[in-house]
Amino acid sequence: TDKGQNDAEAHLRALDQRHTLHPWTHFDSFEREGAMVVESGEGCYLKDANGKSYLDAVGGMWCTNIGLGRKEMAQTIAEQVEKLAYSSTFVDMTNGPSALLAEKLASLTPGDLNRMHFTTGGSTAVDSAYRLVGFYNYCRGKPEKTHIIARDQAYHGSTFVTMSIGNKAADKVTEFQYLRDGIHHISAPHHYRAEGNPSEENFTDQLIAEFEAKIAEIGADKVGAFFAEPIQASGGVLVPPKGYLKRMWEVCQKHDILFLADEVVTAFGRLGHFFASEDEFGVVPDIITTAKGLSSGYLPMGAMIYSDRIHDVISQGDENRWFTSGYTYSGHPVCCAAALKNIEIMEREDLMQNATEVGAYFEEQLNTLNDLEIVGNVRGRKLMMCVENVKDKASKELFPDEVDIGKRIAITAEGLGLLVRPIGHLNVMSPPLTLTRKDVDFLVETLRA
Ligand code: PLP
Repeated sequence: TDKGQNDAEAHLRALDQRHTLHPWTHFDSFEREGAMVVESGEGCYLKDANGKSYLDAVGGMWCTNIGLGRKEMAQTIAEQVEKLAYSSTFVDMTNGPSALLAEKLASLTPGDLNRMHFTTGGSTAVDSAYRLVGFYNYCRGKPEKTHIIARDQAYHGSTFVTMSIGNKAADKVTEFQYLRDGIHHISAPHHYRAEGNPSEENFTDQLIAEFEAKIAEIGADKVGAFFAEPIQASGGVLVPPKGYLKRMWEVCQKHDILFLADEVVTAFGRLGHFFASEDEFGVVPDIITTAKGLSSGYLPMGAMIYSDRIHDVISQGDENRWFTSGYTYSGHPVCCAAALKNIEIMEREDLMQNATEVGAYFEEQLNTLNDLEIVGNVRGRKLMMCVENVKDKASKELFPDEVDIGKRIAITAEGLGLLVRPIGHLNVMSPPLTLTRKDVDFLVETLRA
């Protein structure tokens, strides 16, 4: 790279350091180092402002599912901006892309999940879903049924209520107080770290018993919903033990509790399906929240998707009843047009099949790292994977925090042209669905190095 580019990069980095508060800023390292200035993206690759290229195994932020730089997406977005850049969808207006996307999504969702409430991203989808749970139960004469049960290590977004529903230990270290009333947490299905090394079957039994006990403690007549990511993403790519999700769903049905699948990460191909709940885990949720791969990061977009059954309850009765949730950009015509084109590309290029095939190869190859002293556990499914680094393989003891092992590995990989995401002692990967076997080989070789 020439000097001019380096100066430009340094300038942008300094401006950013001076004026931007990034998501989840770690002030100490940000003030020391600043952020990488990304300039362009093509497929699974990013280029920084110094001209260095990286395989982006993070997939942006679990979201660049069809890969970056597609002319077809640019054209669709430009055409929609020219035609209708914005119109509101509050109550008495709609637009073509919003209506068409709603119908398309209904054709892809499981069961009778035919109702779409469009949002600006994942957090707002889960936030709206929280309100829907209370509203639905109020409408059917069960106003007490507002309590939510979620899991430890869950992440459901960054609004106040979604941060309260999530329970990642690393996010709750400050003195900041989140909502506590009516929000309960049970154990994460973290098999690798389960006490006493139970078999998968025994671990599932334990978790089901804990769920039943929690419902009994609160009172089933007060529990409105169970919120669960099918695979907990930023909590550490926690693949639940065999039978767990289906049995949790059965417990919900038994106690008249809504099952909410937070598919912000797991939908749109990461696990080789448009939606993972039913196709991967045999569960038909009452509510699905999604975002990210819905528009592959080309534009911000999310959706809360819920059943006809819920809709029939909330839409009938008292004339003066409103479901008070929605956003200026709900059903944004340009975002919806981008999401529709994104889905069309996924179908036309059969990216579900590529995710399934290359995902299986990725799983297999990443598992070869198990022979390394530092690798305690390789887990995940298909294009949603994670390496848990440990100081001692046998005891599973972690490195002390100050070693910052995930970050050290990520920084070293970055130098070698590979981006993996550090989350504490983990390195997490969620590459685009267009990943090739050659990319997998490079990724695994680089991580090994
Ligand atoms: N739910 C899950 C499972 C997520 O992983 C995320 C983001 O990573 C969110 C919700 C929040 O989505 P957003 O950042 O688009 O608001």
